[in-house]
Amino acid sequence: MKKTIRDLDIKNKRVIIRCDLNVPIKDGEILDDNRIRESLETINYALDNDAKVIILSHLGRVKTEEDKKGKSLLPVAKRLSELLNKEVKFIKDTRSEFLTNEVNNMKSKDIILVENTRYEDVNGSLESKNNEELAKYWASLGEVFINDAFGTLHRAHASNVGIASILPSAVGFLVEKELIMLDSCVNIEDRPFVVIMGGAKVHDKINIIDSLIKKADYLIVGGGIANTFLKAKGYDLKKSLVDIESIDYCNDLLNKYSDKIILPVDGYSSSEYMDNLEVCYNELNNIKDNQMILDIGPKSIEKFKPILEKAKLVFLNGPLGVSEFKNFEYGTKELLNILNEIDSKIVIGGGDSAAAAIRFGYKNSFDHISTGGGASLELIEGKELPGIKVIENK
Ligand code: AMP
Repeated sequence: MKKTIRDLDIKNKRVIIRCDLNVPIKDGEILDDNRIRESLETINYALDNDAKVIILSHLGRVKTEEDKKGKSLLPVAKRLSELLNKEVKFIKDTRSEFLTNEVNNMKSKDIILVENTRYEDVNGSLESKNNEELAKYWASLGEVFINDAFGTLHRAHASNVGIASILPSAVGFLVEKELIMLDSCVNIEDRPFVVIMGGAKVHDKINIIDSLIKKADYLIVGGGIANTFLKAKGYDLKKSLVDIESIDYCNDLLNKYSDKIILPVDGYSSSEYMDNLEVCYNELNNIKDNQMILDIGPKSIEKFKPILEKAKLVFLNGPLGVSEFKNFEYGTKELLNILNEIDSKIVIGGGDSAAAAIRFGYKNSFDHISTGGGASLELIEGKELPGIKVIENK
């Protein structure tokens, strides 16, 4: 296990906390402050231990001066201050004498939020390419480094790997929880282990399917990726999304793991990829020529249910239909409802399914909803993430 913030002496020290405060902002308004709230536990722990807290975070992608518009962390500083009920000093620079002086003048329990780390990407991607000088500068601001930004652990940036290579480092509470919960889907102790995969294209999921199919007792498939498996079985899916180059791959999997792979048997469709057209119900062998399947149907849910009721561990990645359209949210909603009722450990990973679970009101219903899309999948694939590798073991 990696060192956590509890393992380092932070009392009265300048502690740099790398948070993931990458929240959606429109016209200066924060649309969803979830990521700020998720960061509070570690920040509060540091404050309770009389640290001087210097927070770093990225916000969106910044490649040009133009991209900086709307990407300042200033609104985040204001929201963080409200949530902590405490002043958060926002410094509008990422690197300057002013910032250095402000940090040197900090007292215990003071908080500084530094401007968006990706502003350093404008001239040569210094943050994203882990520029050594930049990492040295940021490290010089602190005495201890805590990485609590789970969503960027799979990237080697100056604000995570760079600083951690220089200062005594540990992970924060958010990253610790992610590592423990996601590890339960890598080193399986609870069985039956059921994996549910949805989303758009098989092609994008090959690595994760390859690593999970061996470990899982069942792989339930939905969404666009089910179409490619069904095509491999010979169904004519008319206008539905099929990932042609992955048909052979699906065929091989179906031959090798015929008992494990569970496919839908019906679905809802429309004539276009739109939310406001007539919706048709289809058994798989009589889809009309002008239709595309955009969701799974009730018979598929009935087929999946008994398998889920036996499960002791479930990992969900990807929505089972185009759940961002009202007309096609049925399958994903029904599935979440079943997961909410069964007596099983439930872990949700990957951006879209996590977003759907929160949108449909299940934020606190499951054992874990990962805060990082790409990072959660790479961890489950068994990859060593650069942001974690650099942190010492206990
Ligand atoms: P992913 O990022 O691969 O998990 O894919 C998520 C996307 O898959 C969402 O935007 C869904 O709208 C899309 N999706 C799910 N089911 C289908 C489907 N049957 N046809 C087309 N797209 C789908």
